[in-house]
Amino acid sequence: MSISKRITLFSTGFLFLLLVLVNGSIYFLFQQFSTNAELERMQAQLQTIAESAQGSQSDLWLTSYGTGDGMLRVIREDGSSTLTVTKEPDLRLIPAEYSNRESGEVISYQEQSYSLNRFPIIWVDGSIVSLELIHPLTTLESTLSTLRIVLMIASVLIIIPAYFAGRALGRIILMPVQTLINTMQGIRGSGSFQKIDIKPDAKDELAQMSHTFNEMMELLEENYDKQQRFVSDASHELRTPLTVIESYASLLKRWGMKKPDLLEEAVDAIYDESQRMKGLTKQMLALATGEPDKTVILQQIDLVKSAEDTAKRLRQAYRREIVVTANEKPIYILGDPERIKQLLFIFVENGLKYSDDDIRITLDQKINNVVLSIQDKGIGIPKDDIPNVFERFFRVDKARSRQTGGSGLGLSIAKAIIDAHGAKVDVQSEEGKGTTFRISFPQVNKKQNEKQSGGEKVDE
Ligand code: ADP
Repeated sequence: MSISKRITLFSTGFLFLLLVLVNGSIYFLFQQFSTNAELERMQAQLQTIAESAQGSQSDLWLTSYGTGDGMLRVIREDGSSTLTVTKEPDLRLIPAEYSNRESGEVISYQEQSYSLNRFPIIWVDGSIVSLELIHPLTTLESTLSTLRIVLMIASVLIIIPAYFAGRALGRIILMPVQTLINTMQGIRGSGSFQKIDIKPDAKDELAQMSHTFNEMMELLEENYDKQQRFVSDASHELRTPLTVIESYASLLKRWGMKKPDLLEEAVDAIYDESQRMKGLTKQMLALATGEPDKTVILQQIDLVKSAEDTAKRLRQAYRREIVVTANEKPIYILGDPERIKQLLFIFVENGLKYSDDDIRITLDQKINNVVLSIQDKGIGIPKDDIPNVFERFFRVDKARSRQTGGSGLGLSIAKAIIDAHGAKVDVQSEEGKGTTFRISFPQVNKKQNEKQSGGEKVDE
């Protein structure tokens, strides 16, 4: 049974029960009160007759007493009636009963109610007799029957609108629930994250339920987006180590053990790249279990060495010239070695993708900061697009990316790493001439020992 039907049934049923109780009590009290009043009235009448009868010397006047549809009789101690006055012969069949006390009761005879009152008096012969007055309660019965009809009609008149009100109430209450169900079905059908419209002034439980639902949807959407984002980022990032491993592996295949220095370099590169991939898969696993690792571990690293290592790997993988120059050696910064490598890979690979010439990595130890520049003499970025290049999935034009196989993710990942290191980036580019990305890292005291700090976010 639907909730709406249950609400209707419960509210109507409850009201019906209440009406039965209230109307029943009214009817019962009214019946008691009216019956008692009638008995008292008849008792008073009987007392008047009794007083007159006691003062009289004969019973003759009694025989002429007008009893209407009732009966008046005198009953002796032995139960025999010595005098009966009535126009209804049937009433004579009511068994006579002597009582030496005043009494009044309601009796039922031939499906008709009667009031029966008794009053003891001294009869003309000096004996004590019981004067009995029986009177039909027709007026009272018809009043009670009218009251019954009135109460029933009133009950029906209350129950019918109450039933419809219950139905309407059920619908009003369940309307937002229905909307919720429709939205949920819509979500299931379309696979999107829709929300429920809530009136701004609504504060009831249903509004709370809708708010909770919307919050839940937001959370789901957020988690879904995060997952999507990580999967795209991870697949983007896995490509580079795979390219490096592939190129060193083919080099080894070609030269085998003949060049021991190359063998060592190749094994080192393959080992390093597989470590990077291991890190990435670890992050992927953390994401799957709901706890993505977003921290960067900062330590003092030599940026010149990182740049030279990266250049060496990519030179080998892409067979292109990458020149590294530095005004000082070493140049220290506070950074996460893996993330800095990732950053260098992104910028140098972009340079390789969007130019055919050499790539230049320049490191500049300045008084207050360290500047890392990656320069290419490639196709450049249109002026209007420069502010957007760090946005996720942004590509200058799709044809360009189709040729180079780009996804629009690299620079957004790079920007997150730059932010996590408290660095700043700036782009200089001219179409047809080339592009220079300049990253400025905060200065670090060269004498400072290795120092670690955690908790800075990269992914967001
Ligand atoms: P993609 O994977 O498409 O290269 P990126 O986020 O790395 O994504 O770069 C975003 C866009 O910026 C690229 O589509 C490309 O058009 C442009 N871009 C990035 N680096 C360079 C560069 N060195 N030279 C020219 N255009 C670049």
